[in-house]
Amino acid sequence: MHNGDCDADAARRLVDEVGFFAEREVPRYLAGRPEEEYPDELVKRLRLLGVFGADVPVRYGGLGCGEATTARLLYLLARSWQSLASLVGTHLKLCGQMLRHGTDEQRSAWLPVMSCGEAVFARAYHEQGCSDPELLTTHVRDSAGRRTLHGRKDWVTNARHADRILVLARDGRATLGILVDPTADGVRIGPELPRPGVLGVSLASVTFDGCAFDPERDVLGGPGHDLTDSLRAGDLRSYTTRAVACAEAVCDQAARFAARTIGRRPPDAQGAIRLRVGEVRARTAAMRAIWTDLLGPAPTIGPDEAKVVCTALLQEIVQACVLLCGGAGYADPHDSLGRHYRDALALPIVGASNDTLLSRIGSAALASEEAR
Ligand SMILES: Cc1cc2nc3c(=O)[nH]c(=O)nc-3n(C[C@H](O)[C@H](O)[C@H](O)COP(=O)(O)OP(=O)(O)OC[C@H]3O[C@@H](n4cnc5c(N)ncnc54)[C@H](O)[C@@H]3O)c2cc1C
Repeated sequence: MHNGDCDADAARRLVDEVGFFAEREVPRYLAGRPEEEYPDELVKRLRLLGVFGADVPVRYGGLGCGEATTARLLYLLARSWQSLASLVGTHLKLCGQMLRHGTDEQRSAWLPVMSCGEAVFARAYHEQGCSDPELLTTHVRDSAGRRTLHGRKDWVTNARHADRILVLARDGRATLGILVDPTADGVRIGPELPRPGVLGVSLASVTFDGCAFDPERDVLGGPGHDLTDSLRAGDLRSYTTRAVACAEAVCDQAARFAARTIGRRPPDAQGAIRLRVGEVRARTAAMRAIWTDLLGPAPTIGPDEAKVVCTALLQEIVQACVLLCGGAGYADPHDSLGRHYRDALALPIVGASNDTLLSRIGSAALASEEAR
């Protein structure tokens, strides 16, 4: 959705404002509340900042930032709190889907309200053990002259607070994206799913039991518009952005702690600590290099490879940083290391499991060897 509507000064101002919000306002908010609570106040601030329409062209009410600025905004949010990055990242992806696939009427109806955050979108794509659009079991039926939706999605981020959910469902040989009002008849949001991290923004299953929809109005791209091929090329770059943000946040925190405490350690401990700090810094720098390459004009690494490498490296970095801080890493009064530690666990899974991606990368490598 690169469009160049937003000039360089406006983009810089936005990055500064979101940086201030992420660095100051979010930690202050989190210090006073249980992490499980929906961050209504922060979502209102994100609306005012224009983040929900960051990458949407100005003619549709967005800010028209290019991809690089939008990735930077997501980075800042993830550095502070992964939950906000997951809510905003999902919504921005859906703005992109609306822009790419929506009919003129759908774009005019939805993009302005999506951009100002009046309508926040969630997505219900995945079913347990099934990421291939052709194998989804959620489907469309015709009953009594109406088109209805049937099936279940196991994990939907922001299900409880989204204004619309884009649901993937099979209709014959096509995969449709259907815009569903979560409060409509025939939609049931399950209880909040227990989990170690990415709290605050809800995560729940959603069941569709005869939910009626209007094919002209509610099917993304109009009746019969098939998303199968575009879904196969799903973009995982936002997870790399979030992994880099998390790695840099914990690395800075651990380095600050080490610098503050190293002077009172015996010489052999000081050497070991320097080595450990050096190790996490070098790994974090490698992640940033991958991220920069990925978002550059001619990437040399694919989004799947980048996601696998960065989210896997992140696990080692977070563990090392918690260890470096000792008790203060695990039981930190501000809990930010502990929160990053818990949130980081989700990143090798979300979007597509790293193992699934590795097996896809491996199959492609073997196929290309066989074709030689
Ligand atoms: C915090 C969180 C938020 C989420 N939010 C959303 C959302 O908003 N919308 C949405 O649609 N989905 C969402 N999901 C679902 C997410 O996309 C899936 O969990 C993810 O794609 C993994 O699928 P799965 O859980 O079905 O794992 P499975 O496919 O069951 O895989 C489990 C494990 O089996 C092995 N495996 C399976 N297949 C293969 C293979 N082909 N090759 C090698 N190994 C394999 C791997 O070890 C893999 O990790 C969310 C999940 C989480 C955890």
